[in-house]
Amino acid sequence: MEKIKMTTPLVEMDGDEMTRILWRWIKEILIEPFVDLKTEYYDLGLPERDATDDAVTVASAEATRRLGVAVKCATITPNAQRVQEYSLKKMWKSPNGTIRRILDGTVFRAPILVEGITPYVPGWKKPIVLARHAYGDIYNSVEARAEGGQTAYLVVEDAAGNEVSRNIIHSFASPGIVQGVHNVDDSIASFARSCFNYALDCSMPVWFGAKDTISKTYDHRFKDIFNDIYQSEYAQRFEEKGIYFLYTLIDDVVARVMRSEGGMLWACKNYDGDVMSDMVATAYGSLGMMSSVLVSPDGKYEFEAAHGTVTRHYYKYLNGEETSTNSVATIWAWTGALAKRGELDGNAALVDFAKKLEKATLQTIESGYMTGDLIPLFNRPGVQLHRLESRQFLQNIAQKL
Ligand code: NAP
Ligand code: MG
Repeated sequence: MEKIKMTTPLVEMDGDEMTRILWRWIKEILIEPFVDLKTEYYDLGLPERDATDDAVTVASAEATRRLGVAVKCATITPNAQRVQEYSLKKMWKSPNGTIRRILDGTVFRAPILVEGITPYVPGWKKPIVLARHAYGDIYNSVEARAEGGQTAYLVVEDAAGNEVSRNIIHSFASPGIVQGVHNVDDSIASFARSCFNYALDCSMPVWFGAKDTISKTYDHRFKDIFNDIYQSEYAQRFEEKGIYFLYTLIDDVVARVMRSEGGMLWACKNYDGDVMSDMVATAYGSLGMMSSVLVSPDGKYEFEAAHGTVTRHYYKYLNGEETSTNSVATIWAWTGALAKRGELDGNAALVDFAKKLEKATLQTIESGYMTGDLIPLFNRPGVQLHRLESRQFLQNIAQKL
């Protein structure tokens, strides 16, 4: 077979631990035999981020602005323990946070549904697509510790340095902690528009919740911007499609989602999206079955898996033990990126290949061949179960392909 040609390269962002191993195998077993793969490679593995003072992360995001489509492997966000483990110069910020800040995008996460796996929430019949606001809040916060007797203020200055407002956050009688977070109207507005556009494309209602009753300036701003943009730009088109926009308190949204049958786009503030996407992914099966894409307002795409680097499996791998790590979401990152690249370049063969790889992956699982995480979830009458090692699973998909 002649390999499928690519005209424009993908931005390839390599990562850490078990997903870095899967990354190499996916390329070697499922992609390179069929596609004359062109990528601009950036190593976002922690050692390289440390060596380049994180410049490699910024460069990869800038390449995405230039080329339009990126595929990213999961990466370690260092904490104190990682700083020791990797002898880091610094506790580098989350690469995903850095990339999202540069692209100002919205993250959409959708479960990958398979025949034979029933969600833990039996009422959920359709996918819940989760949109995570990709900017600000605690992901770009400043934090400090305070001693007893110290006072923390929230001060706003104008461009000339004149004080506009000053509020006491807290006068500490005993040691404590303080955090400063921010967001910007433009980013909230482009988040709202991305959600409404995605919902129109997929004919799904949009649900959004925040805590405006408690956070009367900060969260209330989110509510107002969503409502204003909906009313002035989208309400009519939503009505024509028979879909709607619902704003309610975040706790009410959580309760309604649990009672629903799915099939909505759930717009979340940054932290809610971080946390709830893990819950939703787990309820649909496994973290290994949740795909993720960051879409910028000007149409740049970065595809990745929603899960992390699967550290526990990596240490087993390093010990020479067998692992059975689910590569489906990482495969979806590659198929999503290849299909989008093909679409933008008018490369039908590449789009077709991506669809075939997805189909081969689903058929492999549906015929009973899967990784360990899916075994307890899978139940299809007449299908015998086979637990495969990480690499074997990819080889089985390649056979189908
Ligand atoms: P994680 O890597 O997603 O793994 C948590 C647990 O979920 C695993 O130990 C495993 O459970 C299960 N799991 C997740 N993905 C799986 C898969 N593909 N196949 C099978 N099981 C899977 O999250 P974490 O342990 O909280 O974080 C590990 C590292 O990843 C951290 O350094 C974090 O900073 C980073 N992280 C990166 C991203 C990203 O780059 N997008 C996102 C989240 C976390 P069992 O061990 O029980 O099998
Ligand atoms: Mg999370």
